[in-house]
Amino acid sequence: MPDLIEVYKLSKHFPVRSGLFNRGKRFVHAVDDLSFTLGYRQTLGLVGESGCGKSTASRTILNLLKPTAGEVWFQGENIFNLSSRERRKIRQGVQIVFQDPYGSLNPRLTVKRIVEEPLLTHKIGNASSRRRDVAGMLAKVGLLPEHMNRFPHEFSGGQRQRIMLARALVLKPKLIIADEPVSALDVSVQAQILNLMVRLQKELDLSFIFISHDLGVIRHVSHKVAVMYLGEIVETAPVDEIYESPLHPYTSSLISSVPVPDPRMKNRNRVVLQGDVPSPRNPPPGCRFHTRCPRCMKICSQKKPSAREISPGHVVACHLYGDGKIWEPPLPGGQNVQ
Ligand code: SF4
Repeated sequence: MPDLIEVYKLSKHFPVRSGLFNRGKRFVHAVDDLSFTLGYRQTLGLVGESGCGKSTASRTILNLLKPTAGEVWFQGENIFNLSSRERRKIRQGVQIVFQDPYGSLNPRLTVKRIVEEPLLTHKIGNASSRRRDVAGMLAKVGLLPEHMNRFPHEFSGGQRQRIMLARALVLKPKLIIADEPVSALDVSVQAQILNLMVRLQKELDLSFIFISHDLGVIRHVSHKVAVMYLGEIVETAPVDEIYESPLHPYTSSLISSVPVPDPRMKNRNRVVLQGDVPSPRNPPPGCRFHTRCPRCMKICSQKKPSAREISPGHVVACHLYGDGKIWEPPLPGGQNVQ
């Protein structure tokens, strides 16, 4: 059986105006050559600093942005090759939850109408079955039946994020793309929402692509982690392995900055990166991280490092690991299976 979702060499470049009469053709390299797979009931944590291309990647995967290159296969089908009718069907299976629970809910609609809306859009059920579905989904996310007739402003940030989850789940999707779903919430509320998502994953057989800049949050929910820097994935590994043995200098610096609630570990070596993230309009040649890398070598500014598999499922793109086996993403849709 193919993986639930296979992302193969996905790129998204935005043209920018430059030069007299816009003659100079330049592009913002928001996402470059992104490849990963995600199985059923699994969570991939996509992590990196703000502006590294995580959100553009999620919107391109959903085909909300037209990809520049690459493929996305969902349950064995290339979604970029589907007709708009077939794509609509796929959209039921993939839903997105946004960061901002304040701005994402229409303040003029009741909770019932907000959660019911995807069912109306996809013409599913009748008035009474939809009411039942909405009530059932609100109960699943920890809200009460009487909340149905209230408006978003009557709820706290955590409750609004629960409403967003109910709306995303009402179509019974297989995959949720959660784009910084807890970063606008208080820390105590964040834990409740994360625990809710972990519980829902088990109860509803869900997979998540969980996007965050917060490595503590990513560790709590993910089975495997992909680290992005300036539009590219620089390291992918199972969750415990990446936190205990990070290989890429960028991953090491991110992990070293995660606070540890243990006073005995106060002498931990923290790697503080110097300089700003370069512009994706003009990414550095060679390794894109070389302008900030504390272990930069001469080759790093001259040659792009290949992705290499250092141990099963642990892939890193860095010249420090030039002895590893070169890793190529598997062709999607089982194309390489004879
Ligand atoms: Fe640092 Fe070079 Fe590795 Fe890039 S390739 S992360 S610059 S050591």
